[in-house]
Amino acid sequence: MTETHNEFIDFQFGIMDDLANGRDFRKVAKDARDKIKEIYDTRNNSGDKIPSGLELGVDVNRICNLKCSHCYLADTHIQNEYSNQDDLTSQDWKNLIYDAKDFGVRTLSIVGKEPLLSPDTTKIILETAENRGLNYRILTNGTLIPSEINWLKQFNFSFTSISFDGDEPNHDKIRGQGNYQKALEGLRTAKKAGLENLTANFTTMTHNVNSLDKMLPDLVNAGLDYLSVGFCFETSYNDLSLIPTQDIFYKTIDQLKNASKNIKSITLNLMGKENSEIVAGLWNQGYFKKQNSAILEDFAPSLLFPINDSPKTFAHLTILPLVNYSGFRIGPEGIVTDFCEDLMQHPLKGFGNIKKDSFAELYEKSKTRWKESSENYYQTLQNSLLRK
Ligand code: SF4
Repeated sequence: MTETHNEFIDFQFGIMDDLANGRDFRKVAKDARDKIKEIYDTRNNSGDKIPSGLELGVDVNRICNLKCSHCYLADTHIQNEYSNQDDLTSQDWKNLIYDAKDFGVRTLSIVGKEPLLSPDTTKIILETAENRGLNYRILTNGTLIPSEINWLKQFNFSFTSISFDGDEPNHDKIRGQGNYQKALEGLRTAKKAGLENLTANFTTMTHNVNSLDKMLPDLVNAGLDYLSVGFCFETSYNDLSLIPTQDIFYKTIDQLKNASKNIKSITLNLMGKENSEIVAGLWNQGYFKKQNSAILEDFAPSLLFPINDSPKTFAHLTILPLVNYSGFRIGPEGIVTDFCEDLMQHPLKGFGNIKKDSFAELYEKSKTRWKESSENYYQTLQNSLLRK
């Protein structure tokens, strides 16, 4: 562990202590923003102290072949009036990726809505990213991988993530009849075609947690490399009875104790704002121990806490408010949103459009929202911590 790592661990534990002790959340947010800027400046000056970089999220389209009960996107739950009339052209997407790379973006995440329903656009975006030397990853519901594998296998995804929400009955209850087998076939096909770092994204809810151990053997047989576990959070649209509480976090760990050693690693991802009730509950119980923690060097340091050795299993805690600083998300019509909050609006407003604003202007606009979003982040987390 380096001195820099220790410094960042101390800093983040300090944030949690401050919030738990009732320090004004606005002051805590200011300290966090200053620290994050320092991290980015360090990268700019000396190159490699903490590798961090901007991320561009891309919604290739606003259509999906599924209608999952917990979907975070507002337009899944509302009559979708989306028309592709104003969509970006192929040249617009190419220009965007050139500008993004020149500006300093290192990672492109194809996150929505279902990218394999628009293969022509997705291919152009990926080819441009490949030519410009960007890392790129894709998130899909997996059902269309078998029909699209011939072009997918030409790309070197840093991660291919497929959503699985439980064993067959649970997954199909959430994602629609027959979709478990389709997603499983997608995983198998991706493995056979040589796609690397195949990751299952599991969203823990109140009612699917007990099916995790029944689901995993199927996925391992199909070629799973990594498991990424998230905890469903509240939006204006999804069903609140799905949102897990702290005891579900422990049940999740329990479900993973016999997981196959063929899985390269498992992360249980907790986000300070979205999962504030679970994070605060664990913090108040003393679950997070500084001496066990490590730093995950991604956009900015987040914290890792070991749970099991084999397969390697970690709680991954993000408590730095990176929304509006570490990148943004661009939709098919060019609308720019942050990574989370804006997705819960309908109709989607965003804060800019790539047709009118340069990449640099969009980043500046994004940062003007950072003070408010970071304060909102810590207010939510503090409220949960002080509720006890
Ligand atoms: S597959 Fe993803 S985008 Fe489509 S409805 Fe389900 S959660 Fe939403």
